[in-house]
Amino acid sequence: MGTCKNREENRNLARKTVNVEGPIIIGAGPSGLATAACLKQQGIPSLILERSDCIAPLWQQKTYDRLKLHLPKKFCELPLMGFPSDFPKYPSKKQFIFYMKTYANHFNLSPKFNQEVSKTYFDEEIMCWRVQIKGNDFDYVSKWVIVATGENAEPLIPEIQGMEKFQGKLMHTSLYKSGSDFKNQRVLVIGCGNSGMEVSLDLCRYNAMPHMVVRNSVHVLPREMFGFSTFGVAMTLLKWFPLKLVDKFLLFVANLTLGNTDGLGLRRPKTGPIELKNATGKTPVLDMGALSLIKSGKIKVMEAVKEITKDGAKFVDGKEREYDCIILATGYKSNVPSWLKDCEFFTDDGMPKVAFPNGWKGGEGLYTVGFTRRGLLGTASDAVKISQDIADQWRRIKGPCSCDSLSHP
Ligand SMILES: Cc1cc2nc3c(=O)[nH]c(=O)nc-3n(C[C@H](O)[C@H](O)[C@H](O)COP(=O)(O)OP(=O)(O)OC[C@H]3O[C@@H](n4cnc5c(N)ncnc54)[C@H](O)[C@@H]3O)c2cc1C
Repeated sequence: MGTCKNREENRNLARKTVNVEGPIIIGAGPSGLATAACLKQQGIPSLILERSDCIAPLWQQKTYDRLKLHLPKKFCELPLMGFPSDFPKYPSKKQFIFYMKTYANHFNLSPKFNQEVSKTYFDEEIMCWRVQIKGNDFDYVSKWVIVATGENAEPLIPEIQGMEKFQGKLMHTSLYKSGSDFKNQRVLVIGCGNSGMEVSLDLCRYNAMPHMVVRNSVHVLPREMFGFSTFGVAMTLLKWFPLKLVDKFLLFVANLTLGNTDGLGLRRPKTGPIELKNATGKTPVLDMGALSLIKSGKIKVMEAVKEITKDGAKFVDGKEREYDCIILATGYKSNVPSWLKDCEFFTDDGMPKVAFPNGWKGGEGLYTVGFTRRGLLGTASDAVKISQDIADQWRRIKGPCSCDSLSHP
């Protein structure tokens, strides 16, 4: 287990403190809400701190309109309360948000909004966690802190030569809502993950002309195989067969149904899709229809960008094109290192050093939920384990952190 050492000395002794009964949960996305619900079921209160002004802001504010869950709903349920039975197999973004709101209401969860955590550390003097909020002059203090700020906390913006010169619109997918804003425009989509593919597909639906940059190799798989979700098929097969064999099977069916994607400029990695996911976290793209538009030439695949120019981009193969807009489908990153201090439990990239299924528990009352690279399925598993672990301690000590010397503001 990782440990978090206090090297803050007495730097913050002057700050007022607020003792929190139960754990402090940082983040009111699906992971924070799920953990709070599981704790509540064990009779343990918690304080949820959220930087935004609503629950699940990634879904409410930073996703495109046409988004549907990539995986069937049974793999995306939070603990203790499933999706409404009349929801389709792949709920829409709106339906997922409805589910989140219903979930929060059902468990009577009331996060504190507009609370951006700027610093958190373990204070060895009082053996508790101190959590500081931007703009506050006091610290929240608890025996337990649960990091639920997500793998997708901040947009990942690559540094591309000449980016500042571009005179058209340049944006990250977190700001993209719909192709209706780009009718008849020439759009360069940089990135070919699930978001890059889906945004390109959406742009086509609105008569925009997307060019999609594919810099690295990528596994594209059909969303379903024989009427079952590819993810579900893989999970089932993995119970019986070795990973490499399952990968071979997935690729065999993918080639059969989608054809050879290498010929379309989408080179497959040498490592199989699940092995690659486990080793690097790189998720295979599930085809939602973009592939047929690549085949028909409506989405053009481009080599890596060498340089962005005033009017467009130059590519490594020597081509140069003009664009009205550039969309960065370059993913997201965790922001944990920016606010969790003196903690050895996380990597510099803000992911737990210990991989799933053991990355949920750090030392000294530190927990993480939703950093599993397994989407909502990983969240559910973490949330249950955390609540049980804290419940065991709660019952032993029967009360909140006994930081008697601390004063309230
Ligand atoms: C386009 C897109 C599609 C996806 N589709 C799927 C899917 O189909 N299935 C699936 O399982 N997963 C999917 N995911 C992954 C998705 O991110 C997770 O499933 C889910 O949102 C993770 O929940 P979370 O609570 O861990 O993180 P988030 O939803 O990111 O929530 C983290 C919360 O922490 C808050 N926060 C961050 N920093 C601070 C701070 N310093 N102080 C206070 N609050 C802070 C954020 O504002 C946010 O509310 C998708 C992701 C994206 C981007």
